[in-house]
Amino acid sequence: MQIPAQFDYVRASTVDDAVTLLDRHGPDARVVAGGHSLLPMMKLRLARPEWLVDINDLYELDFILRDGDTLRVGALTRHTALLESQEIARLFPIVGDAEKVIADPTVRNRGTIGGSLCQGDPAEDLSTVCDVLRAQAVIRGPGGERTLTMGEFHRGPYESAVAQNELLCEVRIPIRPRSGSAYEKVERRVGDWAVVAAGASISLAEDGTIADVGIGLTAVGLDGTIPQAEAVLLGKRPAEDLFVEAARIAAAACDPVADQRGPVDYKRHLADELTRRVLRRAAARAAEAQEG
Ligand SMILES: Cc1cc2nc3c(=O)[nH]c(=O)nc-3n(C[C@H](O)[C@H](O)[C@H](O)COP(=O)(O)OP(=O)(O)OC[C@H]3O[C@@H](n4cnc5c(N)ncnc54)[C@H](O)[C@@H]3O)c2cc1C
Repeated sequence: MQIPAQFDYVRASTVDDAVTLLDRHGPDARVVAGGHSLLPMMKLRLARPEWLVDINDLYELDFILRDGDTLRVGALTRHTALLESQEIARLFPIVGDAEKVIADPTVRNRGTIGGSLCQGDPAEDLSTVCDVLRAQAVIRGPGGERTLTMGEFHRGPYESAVAQNELLCEVRIPIRPRSGSAYEKVERRVGDWAVVAAGASISLAEDGTIADVGIGLTAVGLDGTIPQAEAVLLGKRPAEDLFVEAARIAAAACDPVADQRGPVDYKRHLADELTRRVLRRAAARAAEAQEG
């Protein structure tokens, strides 16, 4: 199937308008942002909405804005804008690490952070990034606005806490001093989805010990971060033996499946190796931030 089933199409003019349209047309209506996940699913008849509510005119959702100790990113922000933002590169290098290996420029020019998170593909990269950065999701619906942690946002593969008549509007990322973060992915070929990827974020206290750490893995059956691996590092000074131990625990905690991207033991090996690498890099970047 290369042609989607018939559907009606409407362009929303504001967030409230989009919410009203979604509410009016009920379960048969879907939001379309970049369309890079939804349209292929419609072509394959894995999704069959009767109404598409296009939010590409909602410039109010397309922003990257520092607000005190929070970086606010609108849901309609394109991958390319995330990759090119100097502020994001400085505050959260993990985003650039991940964006460089998400698909190709064509996809990155249209695909959005909101669409990525709402799609909830198990191999999607920005969910892990947002998890380890302890981001929050701001959602708006007929009943008003609510703010969720990423733990509350995720509901498993291809699901999120965003109801059919709601819109993800914004992602809020806390800005912490003396922090560093990193992401690394193994893919079969350039632009492909992850075989496995790992992300880490480390914030140091003034005395150089680890005040907060987030560790996450992509494409290995986990939602959210891995607290048992993080506990190994909390309150300690960054050190190689701790990275090795945390990575071992992370690899044991994940639940990969064998598929065309590789067998379980290979994926677990990658989870271990990549976790060590991102912890090293995040710690080095946090140390740089502490000095600078
Ligand atoms: C060839 C190819 C390779 C790719 N490789 C990767 C990769 O390596 N890593 C990766 O992470 N991603 C990858 N992607 C996915 C890409 O990042 C998409 O851009 C992303 O998954 C979806 O974003 P979108 O804006 O296109 O969403 P859409 O396709 O428009 O929407 C996706 C889903 O989210 C819903 N939605 C969208 N925006 C909102 C909102 N604001 N509120 C509520 N619901 C919303 C839609 O209703 C739909 O259900 C790839 C895609 C392609 C086509």
